[in-house]
Amino acid sequence: MPALAIMYHDVVEEGAYDSSGFPGEGAHIYKLRREDFGRQLKAIRAAVPAGAVALISGRREIAGAAPVFLTFDDGGASFHTPIAGMLEELGWRGHFFITTSRIGTPGFLSEAQVRELCRRGHVIGSHSHSHPTRMAALAPEEMEAEWRESIARLVEILGEPVKVASVPGGYYSRLVARTAAAAGIEVLFNSEPTAAATVTDGCLVLGRYVVKRGMGPEWAAGFAAGRLGPRWRQTALWKAKRVAKVLGGDAYLKLRQAILDR
Ligand SMILES: [Zn+2]
Repeated sequence: MPALAIMYHDVVEEGAYDSSGFPGEGAHIYKLRREDFGRQLKAIRAAVPAGAVALISGRREIAGAAPVFLTFDDGGASFHTPIAGMLEELGWRGHFFITTSRIGTPGFLSEAQVRELCRRGHVIGSHSHSHPTRMAALAPEEMEAEWRESIARLVEILGEPVKVASVPGGYYSRLVARTAAAAGIEVLFNSEPTAAATVTDGCLVLGRYVVKRGMGPEWAAGFAAGRLGPRWRQTALWKAKRVAKVLGGDAYLKLRQAILDR
């Protein structure tokens, strides 16, 4: 059965895009205003059956009706306030993926906050150690080191195993999954807009649908309910981007930056 995963980043007060997560307009387009995120959660709740919003913390069969996984990338301070509380009000928990080199730096979670989120029932995972812009372009040893260092840091903070991760920067290849598996990661979320799960070296690889600033709540709800319209549109968009990536990684990144800087 498919799993539907939604990828969020930070949730901030109007205009305070620098308050959480990575700075710069390239990162800010992924940050939602608190009211907009609240509307998305309400729309999702109205669209999916009770119990559909679920957690995955290790390798297991995805069975039954398609679960909906809410995931959050980068490790910004907003994971703690307001995101975790907003999810908990609905009886939900999230998957929080942490860029471990940023823990305790301005705009990011502290060690104590990472521990607290785990204690409150959220799934804590790795988002690499240093958040390389082009993860898939690294040498295999560097890739594996990113995963190992990040997982080791989280295990040290939490005192329990960490087996879930998400790929930074949306740059995915099979080797990214193979090195994750070698580092003990059992579930890896990437940014490919698909509900199909695959397995690489025993690591379950799940796609995700990204939510950006300005996408209405009806998008998240339509997606979570499994309506194909918005999903297909995003797949088409993403394929166009993949073509650009194949044509040349650096050119694609510059083009993306130029567009986002407007
Ligand atoms: Zn990221």
